[in-house]
Amino acid sequence: MNATAPPLPVPEAGAGSGRSRRLLAAHRAALAWEHLAHCELCAHRCGANRLAGELGPCHANTEAHVFHAQTEVSDEAELAPVFAVAFGGCDLRCDFCNTGRDSWNAEAGKLTVSHQRESTEATPLAYGQELAARAHQALARNARSVMILGGEPTIHLPAVLEFVSLLPDDARLVWKTNAHGTAAARELLDGVFDVWVADYKFGNDLCAQRLAKVPHYTAIVRENLAWAATHTELIVRHLLMPGHLECCWRPVAEWLAAELPGVKVSLRTGFWPGWFSAQHPELVRTTSVPEERLARELATRLGLRLIP
Ligand code: SF4
Repeated sequence: MNATAPPLPVPEAGAGSGRSRRLLAAHRAALAWEHLAHCELCAHRCGANRLAGELGPCHANTEAHVFHAQTEVSDEAELAPVFAVAFGGCDLRCDFCNTGRDSWNAEAGKLTVSHQRESTEATPLAYGQELAARAHQALARNARSVMILGGEPTIHLPAVLEFVSLLPDDARLVWKTNAHGTAAARELLDGVFDVWVADYKFGNDLCAQRLAKVPHYTAIVRENLAWAATHTELIVRHLLMPGHLECCWRPVAEWLAAELPGVKVSLRTGFWPGWFSAQHPELVRTTSVPEERLARELATRLGLRLIP
């Protein structure tokens, strides 16, 4: 958005607020599409004119695809069961990604929302409407939340907001993100989701560059986490990686203890050496029992609020 853009409305939505998140999301979606003329939704800030067909590092255009949508029970206990909706494509290139084939492909899955170049509006397509109906059904069957994830959903923020505008106002909505978005993306998201589940994957920029091909990771993710901690309910996820206890988990844990005391921390220990993990000698195995024990001991010593 340029400097003359009108200010965004004051956040007003969320489960239990008594005000319409659907309307807020629809309004934000209209603003978000404008961002695609010079896209800086993620921290690559490549400026691609996606409305004119240009592609940035994420390879996303104006079409959003969903490669996975179902009720799941493997997320944090306080959120599950969740109706999870996964958009294809991502702005990171994590070699250990457990959904790499779809997460690295912005066209993976079924076309859900599309924005035509000659149009000023976008409408969820039939599959988007179907997904919204399935989310309604899942909530009626006692799903506790609807989770939007990827890949990385930030790169499809306009389409995500279109989709959210179809969901019930009282649904508990979860934004699952790699925390690599910009202030522009955060402004569009403000007040839309009830919970952020945000990854803090790497404890230093060298590991982030080597394993996910992304520069300046630490400063970017910390900026996003600090914002989320003051604007929404936040759960910080860290996937423990084999051989990365000291270089990644320790600095992540120490920063969280010092800067976000009391924040909920989800320490995940299910690393699987898939996708391109074999390119990195330390990632060809799962984490060991001693590594997992040491990781939890460190969290306890630092007073982190681990959640199941
Ligand atoms: S989401 Fe990021 S990588 Fe993709 S076009 Fe926008 S700024 Fe570029």
